[in-house]
Formats: sequence, structure tokens, C-alpha cells
Amino acid sequence: MPASDNTLQTDEGRCAGMRAALDAARHGVFAGQAPFGAAIFTNQGELVVAEHNQVREMLDPTAHAEVFAIRLACRLTGQRTLPGCWLFATCEPCPMCATAAVFAGLRHVVYGASVEDAREAGFSELQLPSRQIFDRSDDKIAVFPGVLRQECRALFTARP
Ligand SMILES: [Zn+2]
Repeated sequence: MPASDNTLQTDEGRCAGMRAALDAARHGVFAGQAPFGAAIFTNQGELVVAEHNQVREMLDPTAHAEVFAIRLACRLTGQRTLPGCWLFATCEPCPMCATAAVFAGLRHVVYGASVEDAREAGFSELQLPSRQIFDRSDDKIAVFPGVLRQECRALFTARP
């Protein structure tokens, strides 16, 4: 499929992509995990993985949804990087996850709630917008903020 046919290039397609990350986050909430989800799609618009935060389950402070999704997507595709892929995250990636996205070769980052939204909801996010990391990359990374923001923000108060 040519890249121009990739539905993720449209608002509608990005909303559909975000729903995969939202569903993963909701699964996480039901499993007692922090309410963050992430999904990775190929540059052709095919879903590779959707994961939720697993910090509490794994007792691993680096097990953010985005890092987990990147690790799994690399394993599933047998690649060390994910060139041209899309990352969807229910919340703006933290500095660790944004850096992981750069190292993974992701070229499109779509997120819902902002780090400010998360901080307001009581999560201890660093006050560093992901844009500041992406802008320092040698690679051009397209960022789409605020996709399904209200649904993503609602995760912060979701209960199992
Ligand atoms: Zn993170």
C-alpha cells in the first residue's frame, strides 16, 4: 500500500489509531496498572502492538506503555528499530519514552493528553514537553498532539 493511502495521514485515521492505545490503557486500568496506553503502527497503517503501562505489575519504573510497546514491536518484527513507524500514546511521552521513540526510528508521534494534563491529574510527570526532545533529533519527527484528548484525560480518573 503506498504511504499516501495510509489512513493515519487523516484526522479520522489518527483517531482510530488512538482508540487502540485507549483500549490498551483501559485494559491496564482493569488490571490495576497506571492509566497509560500506547500503540505502534507501521508506516502502511497496520497495527503492530498495543500495550499499557506495567510499572506496578513488573516493579519496573521504566515499564511505561511506550517503552513496552517499542520493545515488543521490535521483537515481533525482528528488528532493532522501527523505521518510519507511528507511535500513539494516550499521554504525551515523558522524556524517557520520547528518547526511546527517537532511538527506535519512529517518525510520527500522536498523543492525547499533555504532560500538563497528567500533572494536573496528580501524576508526577517531568515538566519537559516531548517536542523539546523530538526537535533535538537529527530525524524529522511529525508530532500530532491532542488527539482524542478528552477521552485520554478521562483515563486519569478511570477506575476498574
Ligand atoms: Zn514514559
